[in-house]
Amino acid sequence: IIEFDKVVKRFGKYTVLDELSFKIQPGEKVTIIGPSGSGKSTVLRILMTLETINGGVVYVDGKPLWHEKAADGSLRPASEAHLRQLRTMLGMVFQQFNLFPHMTVLRNITEAPVQVLGLPKAEARQRAEELLELVGLTDQMHKYPHQLSGGQQQRVGIARALAMRPKVLLFDEPTSALDPELVGEVLRVIRRLAEEHDLTMLLVTHEMRFAREISDRVMFFDQGRICEQGTPEQLFSSPTKERTREFLRSTL
Ligand code: ATP
Ligand code: MG
Repeated sequence: IIEFDKVVKRFGKYTVLDELSFKIQPGEKVTIIGPSGSGKSTVLRILMTLETINGGVVYVDGKPLWHEKAADGSLRPASEAHLRQLRTMLGMVFQQFNLFPHMTVLRNITEAPVQVLGLPKAEARQRAEELLELVGLTDQMHKYPHQLSGGQQQRVGIARALAMRPKVLLFDEPTSALDPELVGEVLRVIRRLAEEHDLTMLLVTHEMRFAREISDRVMFFDQGRICEQGTPEQLFSSPTKERTREFLRSTL
């Protein structure tokens, strides 16, 4: 459902992604791990159309994300409308929650479905209530973000992303801004999503134990490339590259 084909991303002279290629199948749960600066967030930001690319092609659901096919079959840069349309396939949960501070929890979740998808308000509200139940926050729906703990805010962030019914859910270090005692409640929600839904998930995390539990596949990034990938069992228990072993030792 997602494919990166020799994707290049540069910031000035600095190459962040160096002909990066990978594929993710529908329903697959994939985790990206790797050192700081290796390009993990950049991959997610490119998918959310928050960053452009300098080379290669990104496909979402078989369609090029950053390009459109012209009548003669060649690829030209994508129009805004094309980007907007494909973007609705993807939802993202951010490290810093990124909730709208001036809106209640309920409104945070119904806003985009109403404004972007044109869902009737009553329907959006019903969907929001179901999602709040899923993340265990039914009793908090009329509060504002600042009245919630970090763990609760992040669970709202997850519900908000799900409200758009994305096919792929992206997580960028969803627990790294949380106090340690709040990490568990957020991981529980993500684990439940991974187990009960056919959603495709691409997750960047430093929680190695969690990555091991929920992933079908783990990709170890180093310097804008996939250094090594495999099932969690393969990658964590018998990594083949010295660079991977060194990284895993450093996270213990
Ligand atoms: P971390 O684990 O610290 O979050 P990461 O693997 O997510 O790291 P990225 O955020 O993808 O790393 O960044 C990769 C590299 O690109 C970094 O060296 C970063 O400094 C650089 N970079 C990212 N965004 C920009 C930008 N807007 N302008 C210039 N350089 C950038
Ligand atoms: Mg990052």
